[in-house]
Amino acid sequence: SLTIGIVGLPNVGKSTLFNALTRNNVLAENYPFATIEPNTGIVPLPDDRLPVLAKLVHTDKIVPATVTFVDIAGIVKGASEGEGLGNQFLANIREADAICEVVRAFNDDDIVHVNGKVDPADDIDTINTELILADMQTIDKALPKLEKDQRGGKIKPAYLDTVRKAKEILGQGRTIDQAAQAGDIDKDELYDLHLMTAKPFIYVFNVDDDELQNEDLKKQLADSVAPAPAIFLNAQFESELTELDEADAREMLTDAGLKESGLDQLARVGFDILGLQTFLTAGVKEVRAWQIHKGWTAPQAAGVIHTDFEKGFIKAEVVSYDDFVAADGSYAKVREEGKMRLEGKDYVMQDGDIVEFKTGI
Ligand code: GDP
Repeated sequence: SLTIGIVGLPNVGKSTLFNALTRNNVLAENYPFATIEPNTGIVPLPDDRLPVLAKLVHTDKIVPATVTFVDIAGIVKGASEGEGLGNQFLANIREADAICEVVRAFNDDDIVHVNGKVDPADDIDTINTELILADMQTIDKALPKLEKDQRGGKIKPAYLDTVRKAKEILGQGRTIDQAAQAGDIDKDELYDLHLMTAKPFIYVFNVDDDELQNEDLKKQLADSVAPAPAIFLNAQFESELTELDEADAREMLTDAGLKESGLDQLARVGFDILGLQTFLTAGVKEVRAWQIHKGWTAPQAAGVIHTDFEKGFIKAEVVSYDDFVAADGSYAKVREEGKMRLEGKDYVMQDGDIVEFKTGI
């Protein structure tokens, strides 16, 4: 399954965030390199529709979609040269499908900052520079062979041009993701190089309570990383939230003037930048959100439920979540009202589709 690697300088709150995400208590020590082994945390994708459906179809079993986070060891200046766990860091990050960069914005004199001061822009620059340098090394290593392959007619000249363009972009201190979002390069063409900065980025600013209410500051930080998504949360607060039962957690959120926890926002945005979406099934056995890639067709979606379903696909019976709720969760009523759609093999799945697949097996 697709994973999101959590990266950041030491002491910015990665472990605190990760522990909150998984409700596990792995190391969260106040010193650099506290998190050496990569840890995996699988968290539910929040979906308010699932309990509504469960009630309507009278089931207790809810299976949400999930988002997988991997906690990656802290990065420092010089990581691209193999300094301070640098190589291990880079290997772990290469395996991730998206990068969640945790950036410290909170002020606390008791917590040492590796660069001596709290400066989000400078921290982002430090991390991204290491990733950019590592990508440049990847390209420099690949270029001689690509040039030879081009002379031998094994690759299209346009491919070599794109790789050179990528190097130029990195040389300007930009990530490939930023350049791709600006329309300057097509990152799909660079897929074979597995560049780290070509992965989608999310920025998590670990803020204190005052900063969380400071809209000007948040806008300024969000603008500094746009168009990559930015999330603002207080990792310590999030960690306390996860220790409460649901009712108390909700009360604590409301008291803090928040609608949704930062962790829920992170899971949602993470799921989205991985290019995933869900479709739903609702029956007496269970209500479930299944994860698929955006743009997948009905047979591909059916294949997620059971591999044989893709080949044996005949048609999909689809009702939208809203129509299903309006019909009180009765499939009979949905049909009566003409709200059940029959979709064929070219149908592209939409978020909120409640589906039953008809297959020939
Ligand atoms: P990591 O090295 O990035 O994994 O950072 P940790 O999660 O271990 O956090 C480093 C220290 O900062 C720990 O003592 C945490 O308790 C503390 N910390 C984490 N998040 C916050 C926060 O939001 N506010 C404050 N004041 N301290 C935090």
